[in-house]
Amino acid sequence: ARGAQGSAGAGVCTRVRACRSTGHAPGFDGAGMCVPPCTRVRPLPTDPLDFRHHNYDEMRKVGPAAVGQCPNITRIYSIGRSYLGLKLYVMEISDNPGRHEVGEPEFRYVAGMHGNEVLGRELLLNLMEYLCRQHRRGDPRVRRLVARTRIHLLPAMNPDGYEAAGSELAGWASGRWTYEGIDLNHNFADLNTALVAPRGEPGGTPCALAQVAPETRAVIDWMQRYPFVLSANLHGGELVVTYPFDMTRTYWKAQELTPTADDGVFRWLATVYATSNLAMAREERRPCHYDDFARAGNIINGANWHTVPGSMNDFSYLHTNCFEITVELSCDKFPHASELPAEWENNREALLLYMEQVHRGIKGVVRDAETGRGIADAIISVDGINHDVRTGRARDWGAYGVYEVTAAAAGYEAARRPAASAWLEPG
Ligand SMILES: [Zn+2]
Repeated sequence: ARGAQGSAGAGVCTRVRACRSTGHAPGFDGAGMCVPPCTRVRPLPTDPLDFRHHNYDEMRKVGPAAVGQCPNITRIYSIGRSYLGLKLYVMEISDNPGRHEVGEPEFRYVAGMHGNEVLGRELLLNLMEYLCRQHRRGDPRVRRLVARTRIHLLPAMNPDGYEAAGSELAGWASGRWTYEGIDLNHNFADLNTALVAPRGEPGGTPCALAQVAPETRAVIDWMQRYPFVLSANLHGGELVVTYPFDMTRTYWKAQELTPTADDGVFRWLATVYATSNLAMAREERRPCHYDDFARAGNIINGANWHTVPGSMNDFSYLHTNCFEITVELSCDKFPHASELPAEWENNREALLLYMEQVHRGIKGVVRDAETGRGIADAIISVDGINHDVRTGRARDWGAYGVYEVTAAAAGYEAARRPAASAWLEPG
């Protein structure tokens, strides 16, 4: 390549690539020479949101402010406390906050599981503010989403770790763990081992001695109380989307392709985020570290990257009806506050589009054919997919794809339907 000042006689400016990656356009002077520095052409973000880092005390003011602005579609609740007693706040956004409506799927975003990976927290605060503002303005896309979905945002799963990380000057790892030194993404029950153990052999790790963090317990209770069907948890330090399983099937392997029975759906979900995230989709993106994820569309099976026993994604998939992926949002774990507007731009469409995926697939209600009453705890099996889902307390359920489904419940004959709803004959 010629230098930045090289001849541009053929209309080629050697700074084009460098400029594109910074969002600037190269200029030519009168003599056809490239003119450094690049001139900015990409407009600044237009959403006037609260772009700064929020520590715990600042964060807890954001929710009530949004409830004040949008009381009809927002609710703040706490799912428990961290080891040091900080509340794990969730912001709910829905047309009927506080209520599960039959047939309306429940979605969650979780951020800050590693306390020093802070971008997710700010994006979720921005997202809440954005949804509230656009809803007030009558934005049809946001109105449709809020009317049809119950959205839960947990911006800080590990608030103690965040306070320990403190600022962008923190080291690479400080604040990752809880106050007790627990990595929350290794702290969920390992259900994978039991799943792959040969029949007759005891599977699973004995949990009697395992220390379960209060933050993990709070999230497990939350998963059991709300019938979530889709989720993503937001991390930092890489730029890639990972999907389950996170733990290798062969226990001594550090890396191994370990797909779930719903691999196609998971790859779709990961791809939705990866292709709409502007930082990942940018043609000129460079690897953050040594892995070149762009070659595989910026998605990877979690276990094929590095094995994580006891991950939240695997637990969600094996223990609940929820499909969950991990988004590694940026090379930098603690970006400077001046980068937050650009990071919002990078992620806004991806965050919205990913939530909209909760309306893909099929959902329905299992009812008693004689009384018409809904049946809780009925099992829905999808043809060709070795992974069942269950109806929740509201007796409804969700699954992805269009398939033949079978519904079964104790005391009833199983019913097989090509459609989304099932009536069971008492048997
Ligand atoms: Zn992380």
